[in-house]
Amino acid sequence: MYLSIVSPVYNEHDNIPLLYQEVSAVMKDFSEWEFILVDDGSSDNSMEELMKIAEKDPKHVKVIALRRNFGQTAAIAAGVDHASGEVIVLIDADLQNDPADIPMMLEKIDEGYDLVSGWRKKRQDTLSRRLPSTIANKIISRVTGVDLHDYGCTLKAYRREVITGIRLYGEMHRFIPALANTVGARICEVDVNHHPRRFGKPKYGLERTAKVILDLFTVKFLSSYANKPIYMFGGSGLMLSTVGFLILLFLAIRRIFWKISVVASPWFNVGIMIFILGFVLIMMGLLAELLTRAYYESQNKKTYTIRSLTNFDEEPAS
Ligand code: UDP
Ligand code: MG
Repeated sequence: MYLSIVSPVYNEHDNIPLLYQEVSAVMKDFSEWEFILVDDGSSDNSMEELMKIAEKDPKHVKVIALRRNFGQTAAIAAGVDHASGEVIVLIDADLQNDPADIPMMLEKIDEGYDLVSGWRKKRQDTLSRRLPSTIANKIISRVTGVDLHDYGCTLKAYRREVITGIRLYGEMHRFIPALANTVGARICEVDVNHHPRRFGKPKYGLERTAKVILDLFTVKFLSSYANKPIYMFGGSGLMLSTVGFLILLFLAIRRIFWKISVVASPWFNVGIMIFILGFVLIMMGLLAELLTRAYYESQNKKTYTIRSLTNFDEEPAS
């Protein structure tokens, strides 16, 4: 099994030599592996450290240098785009994750899982980092229906097919399991080690939680409605239109039987507003349907994914 280990690097120069040592020690019994390090526009000596290990071990170490700091998700995406492994393992470059967990995760892949997610049970971060993260994990699990304790842990192993089809925007690398679930990935969770940061600084603060929650809206929409947006817009549109219509109907009946003025009632305006809002939502749903067609058909994307084909000549389309 060819393995690609992908690591995003932003100002981690003290960590790089150690990271390489640990990864190569763990991988020494594996025959085919590559270690792709993506320099995300570091402003320290990270790039020099990366070139050193690339020179030392050109067989395994590959380095991608981005032109500026694009963020962890983009760095991961660049690494994955250039990875050739059948299995891709993502790991932070700051040594908070432990490369020694990788073989155990690969065993799970061998058992037939498509995605093995690390769970930092004994997470070594401050409470102010852990608490928002615990809450976010609960919300994400609830909303996406993929029950994981630790979405934020970068250390995860992916079978190639479930990660290469996913386009990553914003802070979305943490949502790969939820997105992979929509293409039918088999997912499991394993305990992994976690260490306090020894060198360098964490790059994020609390503002990340807000971004994560906003991304969650996108992920929920994409995973539940991306190929049928009219169900979401049209569903609420139909409901609102019906409520508006019933209010107007009620007013009309009052007018006919009890001669109570329709226009004088404040409910008249409310009824009309709700009815129109519902109508507009349905129209938006139709527009979204057009966009969806443009999205799927321009990229020749299928609305289904195949796990395997038997007795066909072609390879399964990913
Ligand atoms: N990172 C990156 N680009 C950025 C910020 C971070 O490539 O703009 C990398 C960083 O070098 C590290 C990983 O992403 O390898 C996780 O970052 P950090 O340890 O700061 O975050 P946390 O552990 O809190 O998730
Ligand atoms: Mg970290």
